Amino acid sequence: MSQAQETETVREDGRINSVSGPVVTATDLDARMNDVVYVGDEGLMGEVIEIEGNETTIQVYEETSGVGPGEPVENTGEPLSVDLGPGLLDTIYDGVQRPLDELEEKMGSAFLDRGVDAPGIDLERTWEFTPTVSEGDAVEPGDVLGEVPETESITHKVMVPPDYEGGEVTAIESGEFTVDEVVAELDSGEAITMHQEWPVREARPAREKETPTIPLVSGQRILDGLFPIAKGGTAAIPGPFGSGKTVTQHQLAKWADADIVVYVGCGERGNEMTEVIEDFPELEDPKTGKPLMSRTCLIANTSNMPVAARESCIYTGITIAEYFRDMGYDVALMADSTSRWAEAMREISSRLEEMPGEEGYPAYLAASLSEFYERAGLFQNINGTQGSVSVIGAVSPPGGDFSEPVTQNTLRIVKTFWALDADLAERRHFPSINWNESYSLYRQQLDPWFVDNVAEDWPEVRQWAVDTLDEEDELQEIVQLVGKDALPEDQQLTLEVARYLREAWLQQNAFHDVDTFCEPEKTYRMLGAIKTFNDEAFDALEAGVPVEEIQDVDAAPRLNRMGTAEEWDEFIDELESDLADQIRGLY
Ligand code: ADP
Repeated sequence: MSQAQETETVREDGRINSVSGPVVTATDLDARMNDVVYVGDEGLMGEVIEIEGNETTIQVYEETSGVGPGEPVENTGEPLSVDLGPGLLDTIYDGVQRPLDELEEKMGSAFLDRGVDAPGIDLERTWEFTPTVSEGDAVEPGDVLGEVPETESITHKVMVPPDYEGGEVTAIESGEFTVDEVVAELDSGEAITMHQEWPVREARPAREKETPTIPLVSGQRILDGLFPIAKGGTAAIPGPFGSGKTVTQHQLAKWADADIVVYVGCGERGNEMTEVIEDFPELEDPKTGKPLMSRTCLIANTSNMPVAARESCIYTGITIAEYFRDMGYDVALMADSTSRWAEAMREISSRLEEMPGEEGYPAYLAASLSEFYERAGLFQNINGTQGSVSVIGAVSPPGGDFSEPVTQNTLRIVKTFWALDADLAERRHFPSINWNESYSLYRQQLDPWFVDNVAEDWPEVRQWAVDTLDEEDELQEIVQLVGKDALPEDQQLTLEVARYLREAWLQQNAFHDVDTFCEPEKTYRMLGAIKTFNDEAFDALEAGVPVEEIQDVDAAPRLNRMGTAEEWDEFIDELESDLADQIRGLY
């Protein structure tokens, strides 16, 4: 987060009038809405959220205990901004973009600091800059001037900041530079460094938002197969405690085919975030073998950190995502959990004594959530490249009740809904995403991609699976009343097929070396094998073979081993041919 920059306007300092948790009021402060201020003798970072006459209300992003009336408040005159430039990746930040390792060095602890400022990107480190334009070239805002190998996996593009004028390049050279050294000069008089700042509450400009048509492939069968999210799409994962939100988010962070992952841990328990902080740096990007962190930026605001910073961590995350989008990258942002952010809004709102809306959340809850998700999308950037930001928000409804305001308001906005289900989790069906309740509004617009890249009959085969699972759902009601044996044989067979769909296809073990990731081709072939069983079985039934005999063929249980099969192509070829031989052998 940016240090205050002295502006030319002379600003009067204010004085604290009252302190109520994260909400502080000050008098005599010359400020505008959303200005960043430093509060109290320690200079805690805060943001102006209300101005009434001579009284200014500030939400403070740091713990305020011990801060009292009469202490000074200093206005920076600047909105809350992030520092952007090389060095964002492979870094772990707190909620106000202070690198946690730097804080640790300065404070001896990552979580007990106050009033310590650290720049969001390393100002001393040098980077190897290689120009991609020459002197005499004309450049416009957003245009790429040169490149920096930021990490093993990612080339950072140094761009003309969007709020610059642009012009003809008068000087540019390659070399080792710190982020604040000038790498290019323009005839407009503008000097360009690798360091940009951007106000977090303002979406970075783009030329156009386009309709996304490429999936963000997750390697998770139920997602890619039934409820895909687009690159540039939005998804919500609501689920009660213990239902698998975190495992799903981690799986996406590891496996989604995004170039960059921004992981925002917002108000979750410290130990969960610690797990992320400790785990991620150890992990390899399964596709490249390079460290996963080299394409990842982690923002960690745990439940023991001040609540107001939950909001800033969400906005910081999305702004960093947009910055990489501007370079032409596909970025996936995961926010775990947006409910904790909403709770922070509720707390601040109640301290402000605003008129409460549903369940005490402020009336602007829906607007804030939609403002955040609106920043996702597939964009034509101002420099002509195409980039995307996909946003996946976890929601933690108390008691798993999806009718509560945060879940409901989120559902009105996002286009993919992965409903986690406590019953499935209890039955150890993982990922415990409920296939009856979940949906994806991207299915149709993504179908052409699956048809071109995976299989021509992808939509039909998927529809067959959906119909079979629907039918199972209806049949289950009857089974509960009269028992399975009372059903006609064809319905018994449908139940058997549906069981394989659930157990062999929808279940996927995140902790199994092979099963953890399933490429779309394998997802399709696995489904195809179950359909082979289905088609052969129904033919046999029609020929008069009793259903028990069909169910009992030796090859059938091998369907359950497809997920963990390493040489899946061969495994499935053989299985399909054995299923056909054995079932046909019955008549
Ligand atoms: P939440 O974040 O919703 O509280 P977690 O993501 O921590 O829940 O999941 C709880 C537990 O469920 C995990 O520790 C793990 O044992 C199990 N689990 C969840 N998803 C999977 C999965 N895809 N594969 C295997 N186990 C899973």
